[in-house]
Amino acid sequence: MKQKLDKINNLLINFFGIPARAAVPPDPVDLIIATILSQNTNDKNSYKAFRKLKAKYPDWRQVQRLKPEKLEDTVRVAGLAQQKAAAIKALLNYLITKKGIISMDYLEQFTDDQILDDLTSIQGIGIKTASCVLLFSLERNVCPVDTHVHRTLNRIGAVETSSPAKTFTEIKDKIPAQAAHQFHTNLIKLGREICKSSGPVCYICPLKKLCRYPEKDFHRKAGGKENNFFLLDSIDSI
Ligand code: SF4
Repeated sequence: MKQKLDKINNLLINFFGIPARAAVPPDPVDLIIATILSQNTNDKNSYKAFRKLKAKYPDWRQVQRLKPEKLEDTVRVAGLAQQKAAAIKALLNYLITKKGIISMDYLEQFTDDQILDDLTSIQGIGIKTASCVLLFSLERNVCPVDTHVHRTLNRIGAVETSSPAKTFTEIKDKIPAQAAHQFHTNLIKLGREICKSSGPVCYICPLKKLCRYPEKDFHRKAGGKENNFFLLDSIDSI
């Protein structure tokens, strides 16, 4: 599988290029809260909610002390307000109770697996959110698996899995060295623009020779691009 992922990565780079990265990695507390807000919504709405939250309460300690209803009101535009507010509170309470400070600098000394175990022990934080912290803030070679990454890797035939969490486990130790950010970002581009959930547009796909999807569609027209805004690559500039 390592070789296959390497091949996919190279073909995607030839087609999409190497995606830009934030010059300074985003603070992990900012990043994890932005990721919680991004669950099951589009990047524009989660960006709005994150911006509103930061503008209203510039210090995360203020958010930790906030009544749940107030926090829910502030992040409502991102949807699932009650659930997301509860996860944000659980995270901030965890940091204050266990570490005495709202900072995630302690993660630097942990291995990838220790970080995944630590963060997923917090209520409302799943493997995807924890792996985003690893990739975007700590710059580890870990590829978060969202619905696009899961769908495209299964269609290509690189994995045969029934959920994003299982895909993550399958590919976790097989990502080419230093390639996780480009691999993750380009697979999302592929999933949004070409290998869409509504159906694949195979005639323009850079992976068509390698792909083993039995329902390849070479007649489907390209159509418009799906959402092409990457929240997690932008939060350092908010
Ligand atoms: S060839 Fe078609 S099915 Fe395969 S990855 Fe490309 S768009 Fe998706």
